[in-house]
This record gives sequence, structure tokens and C-alpha cells, in this order.
Amino acid sequence: MKNFWCDVYLDKIKNNVDRIKQLTNNKKLIAVVKGNAYGLGIEGVTQYLDSLVDLFAVGDIEEAKRVKSEKEILLLSPLVTATDFNIDMDNVIFTIDNENILEKLPNEVSFKIHLYIDTGMNRMGIKPDRLDVVIDKIRNDYKNIIIDGIYTHLHNGSDVKYTKNQIGLFKSAVEKYLGVIPNIHCLNSTCTLNSEYREMTDFTNCVRAGNLLYGYDGLTQGFKKAYGFFAKPVNMHFVKKGEPVGYSCRYKAKQDMHVGVLGFGNIEHFGFNKAVKHNLFYDIIKVIYNHIKFRPVIFAGNKGVRVLGTANMNTTLISMEGIGLESILRIDISPILADSSVEKNYITN
Ligand SMILES: *Cc1c(COP(=O)(O)O)cnc(C)c1O
Repeated sequence: MKNFWCDVYLDKIKNNVDRIKQLTNNKKLIAVVKGNAYGLGIEGVTQYLDSLVDLFAVGDIEEAKRVKSEKEILLLSPLVTATDFNIDMDNVIFTIDNENILEKLPNEVSFKIHLYIDTGMNRMGIKPDRLDVVIDKIRNDYKNIIIDGIYTHLHNGSDVKYTKNQIGLFKSAVEKYLGVIPNIHCLNSTCTLNSEYREMTDFTNCVRAGNLLYGYDGLTQGFKKAYGFFAKPVNMHFVKKGEPVGYSCRYKAKQDMHVGVLGFGNIEHFGFNKAVKHNLFYDIIKVIYNHIKFRPVIFAGNKGVRVLGTANMNTTLISMEGIGLESILRIDISPILADSSVEKNYITN
């Protein structure tokens, strides 16, 4: 067995939803659950969020099918294709992020769309000065298309001047549609945390947030981290002083000891960053630094647990000093990187 799991704290997610609502004066919340709900499991997260948010947003049509909710699901730019419109679901809102797709769409059924405007990211998007033309074209030639929203992405939030300019471009493009087209949005997590951006976007009525929901950001502004990874040693092995341990004999026992086997490794993206090669100078500094300072990534209570050698494909070896087979260890690992097959426990308190 693996004895390795991820706890997802639903009460923390609730806290984060409330905090987003507070900060944005109750704008509609579009819960972004792309990337398997940022690694926390799209099924479990959407089932819980169903009653708390206004709609969901996913990254591709395959994810839309996994959402456990009847609420509307916005299919975000840039992975929208004409074939996606054939999906057999009536709660998907499609993004139109280019003009060429219009003529390829099915015309016998009606569907809702949001228009995505490019204000600088240059990934996909309709240029602001084409918005009116596109809207007129849809209104005249595509009566089956319901324009339900307009949005843009603020992709460089740490640059205030740049982002303010983007918001300005967006505002002048959408101003005449306020109150006419129901949903206007551009705030994401980073920009929700900034009061200047919040004020400048008071003309919008929705916020699209991912990171903040899960507490990957905003911890100093009342958001709470909504997950933790844990493991229990699966097995234990006695090793005599002086004997080598693990692949390439990277570790040598400094005294008689017990080696513990944990059921996760590189495939869960654990220990992977160590393998990143920068340059010789960087690597030497890193080795010296790590040698002087023990920076644990596995913890028993507040105490760091020593990893012996480097993580293997699906296992990691540790020193069992001070811990037993019943100890629950906390693992510092990013849910975004960890393999999505890691078992999740959804905890309501
Ligand atoms: C991912 C994504 C978001 C959410 O971003 P966060 O920083 O996680 O809030 C919003 N809008 C679009 C278009 C996205 O792709």
C-alpha cells in the first residue's frame, strides 16, 4: 500500500469563498477549477462548491464533463475548438476568442458564449477595436448565439502600470455593453488582492478566481491554505552502521539505524526539483548550502525528517529516528505538481 494521501479542507475553501465575496463587494464568483481544481480534485471540489459559487470555469471540454454540479460552466480560452460545441451538455458556456471560429459553429442549436478580449497577453483573443464588429456580426448573422459575457485576462498583475493600462483598455471596450451583456469580468486572484485594481474594476460584476479559492495565495489577507499532504511509513528496515542505503549508495548509515519506506516518489513529483540542472556554480553553492543547512520537506510534528539519498520513482527512504510505523508525517509538496491520482480526503469541519 502507499499510505500517502492529501487532505482537502473544505471549511478553508468556504473561508476563501467568503473572503473573495467580501473583497469584491459580492461580485458573482466564477470558481476556476481547471487543472483538476489546481490539483485538489475537480469532482470533490466542485461538488462542495456547488452551493457556494455562481458558476464554474474549466480549461478544456474534458474537464467540463467532470464537474459535479448543474451550475453553468464557462469553458475558458484558449483551448476552445469548434468541435467542443457539439458536446451533449446544456450548461456549458463557450468562450469565443477569435472571429474565424464563428462560421464553423453548429447553427441548429442555440448556446451561450462569453467573448474573450485580448488586452495584452497575446495568447488568443479578439482585439478591443474589433469587439463592436464581432458583436454586431453575431447579433445579425448568428441568432442562435447568446452573448452572455465579455472578459479579459490580467496576466501580469505585479506590474501596476501595465495592468492599469489593460483595465483601461478593457473598460473602454466594454463600457457601452454594461447592463446590456450580463457578465463582465477581468479580476483573477492576484488582482483581487490589490485594492487599486478592485476599485478600477468596479464596472465589472464577476470575479474569476482559482489560486485564492485553494489558499495558494493571499495568506496574509485572510485566505487559508486548503490542503495538506500526509504519509505513514509503509515498512521499516534495519541497517548497521557503515552500510550503504538506496540507489547509488548515496547514503551511508552513521550508526545502527532503521530505514523507513514511504509510498511516494518522483511520480508524485517529490524530490524532482533536486534533479534540475542549472550551472556548475549554482550546483556547487546549492550542495554546500544543503550540507550546512538541513531544510526538511518531511515533518513529524515540528521536527524535520531526514530523506536518505534522493527520492526514487515511487518510493522515498527516510531515517526512522524518533518516529514509528504509526507516525503521521506531513509532506511539503505542491498539489499542482503532485500526480492527480494521489488519494484525496475531503474534510468538512
Ligand atoms: C486560470 C485562469 C484564471 C484564474 O486565475 P487565478 O490566478 O488562479 O485566479 C482566470 N482567468 C483565466 C482566463 C484563467 O486561465
